[in-house]
Amino acid sequence: MDMNSANVEAIVKQVLEGMLEKSVSAPTPAARGTIPATSKVAMLTALEHYDIKEYPIPEIGDDDMLVKVEGCGVCGTDAHEFKRDPFSLIPVVLGHEGTGEIVKMGKNVKKDSAGKDLKLGDKVVTCMIFKDNPDITMYDLNKQNVGGADVYGLLPDDDIHLNGWFADYIVIRGGSTVFNVSDLDLDSRILIEPCAVLIHAVERAKTTGILRFNSRVVVQGCGPIGLICIAILRTMGIENIVAVDGEQKRLDFAKEMGATKSVNFKDHKGIEALSGAVADCFDGHLADFAFQCTGSPVAHANIYKFIRNGGGLCELGFFINGGDATINPHFDICSKEITTVGSWVYTLRDYATTFDFLKRAKGIGLPMSKLITHRFPLDQINEAHVTNLKMEGLKIAIINQ
Ligand SMILES: [Zn+2]
Repeated sequence: MDMNSANVEAIVKQVLEGMLEKSVSAPTPAARGTIPATSKVAMLTALEHYDIKEYPIPEIGDDDMLVKVEGCGVCGTDAHEFKRDPFSLIPVVLGHEGTGEIVKMGKNVKKDSAGKDLKLGDKVVTCMIFKDNPDITMYDLNKQNVGGADVYGLLPDDDIHLNGWFADYIVIRGGSTVFNVSDLDLDSRILIEPCAVLIHAVERAKTTGILRFNSRVVVQGCGPIGLICIAILRTMGIENIVAVDGEQKRLDFAKEMGATKSVNFKDHKGIEALSGAVADCFDGHLADFAFQCTGSPVAHANIYKFIRNGGGLCELGFFINGGDATINPHFDICSKEITTVGSWVYTLRDYATTFDFLKRAKGIGLPMSKLITHRFPLDQINEAHVTNLKMEGLKIAIINQ
């Protein structure tokens, strides 16, 4: 071997520079592991069918980030796409309730959308991808909800492919809303998006001026939405909460989440008996305020009967068109002077509020993690969706690794 000292020096220098580079760009365990050349994604290629595909991980731009996915909740929206593709997105990589760790950052990426520093190894969630709608901005948040904006996990497929959280890696492009949520555990991070829906609903409810600390509140529907609603009311200090549902198991869980009493509508024949049962829970009074958290038109019609004259209602159960409800405008709204607000999706401010809610919920011992009843690896995403459609569990999550 013919190696002169100049060569040795050059090699040593090269090795040292290599080490230095690594220590700057890879301070965390995940980032220290090499980033593979390809990433698995779960692509919905036909109705009710995902294929696990493998795509090259592209070079990222100066404003982009590469995030290693840790987990992602399965949403009602995913269930609709899986069954019917109402947004005509197939083939598509779904998953918008995801979170993961930054493993690569473009040189211009410095802060998250709330102004918090970002570095390799930080845990992040995304919210909306802004295009050119000035009404949806981080600091003017109450103008409108983000229902019309683009979201990772509901984007058409393109050359990058890593567009949804049902994957091993996702490319977060410049201009997206990103939040550093390193101070939340994985389960909390997976629950951020559905919780934001409820933070928004409660903010909408507060605009009526009727919801107070000592309000008697009915929450109808104890799926994930109703259960999170109860948890939020509880963290706000509202303690007189009656949960209404047809399943005892869910009602029991509602109590763990902070409901004071519960009514199983299957135990009461007819709306009069049912509203009587609700009033019994409030010592003979009707509710000051009610949250309607089911997608059932009959449930919407019923809920007015639980509310006192001058009370309030927040309707948030109809995320999609669930059909028409029959009510009597005279008896249900006018003569009772009910103040009604509708709620859909959330604003960015609600998203940021949600991080604090999740910490508070944990702080007062609410069993938020129990909302995630089923966990599947990415390879079993078809099974995860079938389980979700059976509606036996609450939140179904894909957990990577
Ligand atoms: Zn969702």
